[in-house]
Amino acid sequence: MLQAQIIDADFYPVVVDTHPAARRRRTGRGSHAAAKRRSGTRTAVLLLCGVLAALLALRVALWANKRNEAELLTLVNPWNSMEYTGFVPKLVEFGDGLQVDERCAEDLRLLLDDCAAAGHQPLVCSAYRSRETQEQLYQDKVERLLAAGYDSREAPALAALEVARPGTSEHELGLAVDLVDAGHQALDQSQENTGTQRWLMENAWQYGFILRYPQGASGITGIVYEPWHYRYVGRTAAQQIHQLDLTLEEYLSMFYSEEAVVVAEKKALCQ
Ligand SMILES: [Zn+2]
Repeated sequence: MLQAQIIDADFYPVVVDTHPAARRRRTGRGSHAAAKRRSGTRTAVLLLCGVLAALLALRVALWANKRNEAELLTLVNPWNSMEYTGFVPKLVEFGDGLQVDERCAEDLRLLLDDCAAAGHQPLVCSAYRSRETQEQLYQDKVERLLAAGYDSREAPALAALEVARPGTSEHELGLAVDLVDAGHQALDQSQENTGTQRWLMENAWQYGFILRYPQGASGITGIVYEPWHYRYVGRTAAQQIHQLDLTLEEYLSMFYSEEAVVVAEKKALCQ
């Protein structure tokens, strides 16, 4: 408490301060230490905030990375329509009027460049397809089969083995591309004999791509053997799928199904 006394009212008032804290404040002694303490506290709080912000940023980055990885594994096949995936392609131009999802553009460019550098002639003959384009391709196929003598019940089912029904084509994701040899662009089994295709089958996984419809797997994929259709799943998944020799359907049921989660949890409990 400040105590003051006016010594002589005729003169300029003189204040006599008897409180030690006020004295320290007035003389400057102690104020420096207090300021130092306050500054130290401020620094510690700022540091703590910085660490918390960094941890939060790291967590958000990890979450975004995981979400991105999961999105790259989006399953679209005859039993999983695009509508139910919630996947929204982020399209970018890829030359020659083609578009792909931006998440695979860089690796696709690297894949094509390295294949060409190895002496081959890779060509992207199909990339992203809109629903309308897929509808048109499917209807054309049905018409051809009808013209060839199949009835109206057989034709759509047969067409779907080679041209996915609208909504069930991976091309609508923007993550699938049809790659052929520029000197041999036939979309049939002969494609597998080209040097380009042999190189791609051996190396595409290193760039995050898998041969999506391998030979002998149509019972699982629902699509006949297509030695030209590659799907981007990201480098980690592509490596695992390649090493384990799986289709995307098998890979997802092994690592991402409810059963897989239960197995993983049990394993964690045993450790
Ligand atoms: Zn394709």
